[in-house]
Amino acid sequence: MTSMQQLLGKTYQEIATIVQQTGAPSFVSKQICDWIYAKHISDTADMSNISLKIRNKLAESYIVGTTPYIKEVVSQDGTRKYLFQYKDDVFVEAVLIFDNGRVTLCISTQAGCRMNCAFCATGKQSLQRNLTSNEIINIYRELTLRLCRDDMPQRQDNVQFPISNIVFMGMGEPLDNFDEVKKVLDILTSPWGYGLSPRRITVSTCGFMPKMKEFLDCSDTDVALSLHNAVSEERQMIMPVEKAFPVQQVVDLLKQYDWKGQRHLTFEYIVFKGMNDSNYHVNALAKLLNGLVCRINLIPFNTVPDTPFIGADSRQMQAFASKLKSKGFNVTVRKSKGQDISAACGLLSTKQRLK
Ligand code: SAH
Repeated sequence: MTSMQQLLGKTYQEIATIVQQTGAPSFVSKQICDWIYAKHISDTADMSNISLKIRNKLAESYIVGTTPYIKEVVSQDGTRKYLFQYKDDVFVEAVLIFDNGRVTLCISTQAGCRMNCAFCATGKQSLQRNLTSNEIINIYRELTLRLCRDDMPQRQDNVQFPISNIVFMGMGEPLDNFDEVKKVLDILTSPWGYGLSPRRITVSTCGFMPKMKEFLDCSDTDVALSLHNAVSEERQMIMPVEKAFPVQQVVDLLKQYDWKGQRHLTFEYIVFKGMNDSNYHVNALAKLLNGLVCRINLIPFNTVPDTPFIGADSRQMQAFASKLKSKGFNVTVRKSKGQDISAACGLLSTKQRLK
């Protein structure tokens, strides 16, 4: 018996190939995409404008392939965390953040992570495996539908796009699973897929150089780079990726792209108490980012057990923000949400939680 393949998470190209193999006319590809990505069906039997003969043929080898979340936890501030269980007993978390009428989905791309950043809980798990485009898209689909249900206090009026923004800031390094993430971005932004504007999507990376150029060339989403320290010797000590791919190389590449238009570039910077917020660090940042149109987003550190790091308090963060602003930087300070349910940056874990 051959195992069933999933249609959810396939690109138009892939679906067109399947349609061809099934012997169906080529317009059926569009119809299938429409059922899956616009009408959110979960059963091929529901593709009612496709002939029964083709539907039956499809059903021999294909399912839509949706997986409901197994747990939802709600934070005091309204943030919601979801747990998905995928094959091989892999547990993946995703977060919905509500702010001023906007709903941001923080999505994961890997179960665990290979990057091993010293301050990140996911990094402590090591990589279990890459998520497939089906598993990543499933998170978006399930939470889109969740937001449209009656029992959701922040139920959205905008039924077409209840999720206003997607940030690839959950578990994993998106560029370390780029073959799948590339398909995901295609499905999210194409007219035959979910049709989201790339302005609603931010891909965050620690600067995984091997796929950086391909990512910048093939997509138009916003970009966030996890910097945290502009001094190479210091960055190496908290982010092993710096040894293999110095951030200077990444920035040199970024400088070849246009950030003055619609596409935005942000540098994420966790402010650690007395570690990376001196004048010396301000000058290192100014030197590294010289001539680059970008924003620096200061992130409060969320304490991870068994790490020696201490976050700067809000007064210290504001002081650092002022120093950067006086150098001409565009600076914002991130509000941390969902801390009481371990949903905040760097706290997502593959260990199934009982809380
Ligand atoms: N691997 C990608 C995306 C995942 S992390 C990346 O590195 O960008 C999303 C953001 O949360 C990154 O900027 C990451 O450095 C940050 N982060 C990790 N651990 C954190 C912690 N304990 N407190 C605050 N931010 C953290």
